[in-house]
Amino acid sequence: MVPGIIEVKLATTLMAGWMAAASPVPVPSEVVALLLEAKAATPVEVKLYDENLRVDATVVLRRDGSTDPVTKKAVTKLFRCRVTNRSYPIKQRTLAMLADIADRYDGKTIEFVSAYRVQRGESRTSPHRDARAIDFRIRGVQLREIRDYLWRNYSEVGIGWYPSEQFIHMDSRPTLHDTAWTFLKGNNRYKPYWAELARRPESTRTVAARRPGS
Ligand SMILES: [Zn+2]
Repeated sequence: MVPGIIEVKLATTLMAGWMAAASPVPVPSEVVALLLEAKAATPVEVKLYDENLRVDATVVLRRDGSTDPVTKKAVTKLFRCRVTNRSYPIKQRTLAMLADIADRYDGKTIEFVSAYRVQRGESRTSPHRDARAIDFRIRGVQLREIRDYLWRNYSEVGIGWYPSEQFIHMDSRPTLHDTAWTFLKGNNRYKPYWAELARRPESTRTVAARRPGS
C-alpha cells in the first residue's frame, strides 16, 4: 500500500469517529467509515463547458484522475490544442485535481478556456505544451475561492490567477517547485500575497498538502 492511501484511510477513520459522535442516533464508526470509503471510491461527474465551441460536455473521472479508455479518448479530444487541432492525453495528476474540483463544487459547471497547447509561440517549457495544465473558471464560484483552495491543498502544482481574463490556471508539476502567480497587465507576478496567506498555518485545513492524485 502506498503512503497516500494510508493517509486517506487514517483521515477517513478519524472523520468517521467524529461523524458517529455528532449523530443523534448511535452509528458505529466502522459503518460511517465504510460509507465514506465508498464515496471516496465513487467516480466524479465533471460538468464541463467548452468556451471555444460554446458546448457542454460531461465526463466521469475517478478521483485519482484515471478513467476508462473510451472516456480517456473523449477527454483527450475535448482538451485538444484549439489552434493546431492536435491532441495528447492530459496528465492523470491534473485530471485528479479536476475531479476534486468537480466534487467540491458539485453540480456546478467548469468552463474551460484551454488545456493542451502546441501552437507556435507556446513556450517550450509551458505546462500546457506538456499536457499538464488546464485554464478554467466555475460558473457561480469566485476565482479567489478556487485559487486558494487549490494552493492550500496541493503541492507539486502551479496555480495562476488571471483576474482580468477571469480564469484560473492549474497544472501539476511533479519535478518542479510549487509556483503561484497573478497575471496582471501582461506579466506574471510571482510570490503573490494571496499565496502566502492561503498557506499560513492558521488557515491550513489539512495536515499535509496533497499531491495531485494522492
Ligand atoms: Zn494556463
